[in-house]
Amino acid sequence: MFRVLDHEEFLARRCVWVNGPVIVGAGPSGLAVGACLKEQGVPFVVLERADCIASLWQKRTYDRLKLHLPKQFCQLPNLPFPEDFPEYPTKKQFIDYLESYAKQFEINPRFNECVQSAKYDETCGLWRVKTVSSSGTSRAEVEYICRWLVVATGENAESVVPEVEGLADFGGQVMHVCDYKSGEDFRAKRVLVVGCGNSGMEVSLDLCNYNALPSMVVRSSVHVLPREILGKSAFELAITMMKWLPLWLVDKLLLIIARLVLGNIEKYGLKRPSMGPLELKNSEGKTPVLDIGALKKIRYGEIKVVPGIKKFSRGRVELVNGEILEIDSIILATGYRSNVPSWLQETEFFSQNGFPKAPFPNGWKGNAGLYAVGFTRRGLSGASSDAMRIAQDIGEVWKKETKQSIACHRRCISQF
Ligand SMILES: Cc1cc2nc3c(=O)[nH]c(=O)nc-3n(C[C@H](O)[C@H](O)[C@H](O)COP(=O)(O)OP(=O)(O)OC[C@H]3O[C@@H](n4cnc5c(N)ncnc54)[C@H](O)[C@@H]3O)c2cc1C
Repeated sequence: MFRVLDHEEFLARRCVWVNGPVIVGAGPSGLAVGACLKEQGVPFVVLERADCIASLWQKRTYDRLKLHLPKQFCQLPNLPFPEDFPEYPTKKQFIDYLESYAKQFEINPRFNECVQSAKYDETCGLWRVKTVSSSGTSRAEVEYICRWLVVATGENAESVVPEVEGLADFGGQVMHVCDYKSGEDFRAKRVLVVGCGNSGMEVSLDLCNYNALPSMVVRSSVHVLPREILGKSAFELAITMMKWLPLWLVDKLLLIIARLVLGNIEKYGLKRPSMGPLELKNSEGKTPVLDIGALKKIRYGEIKVVPGIKKFSRGRVELVNGEILEIDSIILATGYRSNVPSWLQETEFFSQNGFPKAPFPNGWKGNAGLYAVGFTRRGLSGASSDAMRIAQDIGEVWKKETKQSIACHRRCISQF
């Protein structure tokens, strides 16, 4: 039976035709696609669940964060970083840069619109993108209809919280690293940092700087590289070497240099993986840690490295080696995941883990006008090259069709 919608309900459910692509997500990737589409003269709509651009950077990162890679590898298409920015811009500088990027290319996302579902409608050959927007107490549902859909929701859309026995009984403060701002609230506290990637290492370092007592869980193995080698960034050095040498040899050289600069890190409990750092990044997406000072704290015992967790109990953790630690707080630096499978009703292009099935460099274009930007595990430079390709691809079709419709329009007029 049909139910007649009341006036408010009717107004709250709108259908919007978008002339051009819908871009889901207003992080760096979504902004980059928007800027490149502007260059092609293609109109678009950006939908963002948060109330600001780059919500990962603005709301879900710690205060002391700086770009991990030098600025020349992090700038978006068509706008370099200001010259007076340092080699590794701060989080605030990066956000300022993104704000001016959005302003310069006149990208005005529709904020507070969370995409709930997107489906290709074969009968009309268009995408139907449903959002729920909320502001204050009001809630509205909108359906966007478009020919192209660009997925820019990021590799880090949702935080990963592992299931560990007894975590619910712990009783103290437990937070994911996305909610950590600084060590200020942890002075003199015994903090267990779970995870030893770039975030886990940096948060442990930050905790030391606020006189907290961090223990960092290193469950398996980790590659730690110096951020700089003889004044040059390790990342840049690796890229330069890769122009001339095979990946396995670059990996070997990086490990020799890391040994010379950092010494033997295995004696501090930081076991190196059997695969080299670049090979591991390419095959499993695991980023090596670029050390910015945590290693020194580990060496001096200010950050204690501990093995995997067996279980938690009230105010305590039991480790796999049987050791029991009394702790006050837990910070889960246990990573993030893509949220694409929760809203995109499509199984050909995206796999169940929320990443495109086709490996780099082919994971940017699917069927029926579907695109993905920022899913190549190659950071901001990977997102920039996806964005340029996508805009070029859509732009070509757009220009051809606009020319045809102008020609048709002229023909129609001349017939009068
Ligand atoms: C701590 C940290 C440091 C990093 N440092 C670097 C670095 O130095 N260099 C580098 O290259 N990379 C770095 N990265 C990688 C990082 O992923 C990129 O810098 C960048 O943020 C990726 O941009 P993105 O737009 O693809 O994703 P995001 O920045 O995550 O943006 C995705 C946007 O999509 C929105 N969204 C998600 N789901 C929906 C939905 N259903 N509906 C509507 N909107 C939605 C989100 O709110 C978000 O605003 C870092 C990551 C982290 C976590």
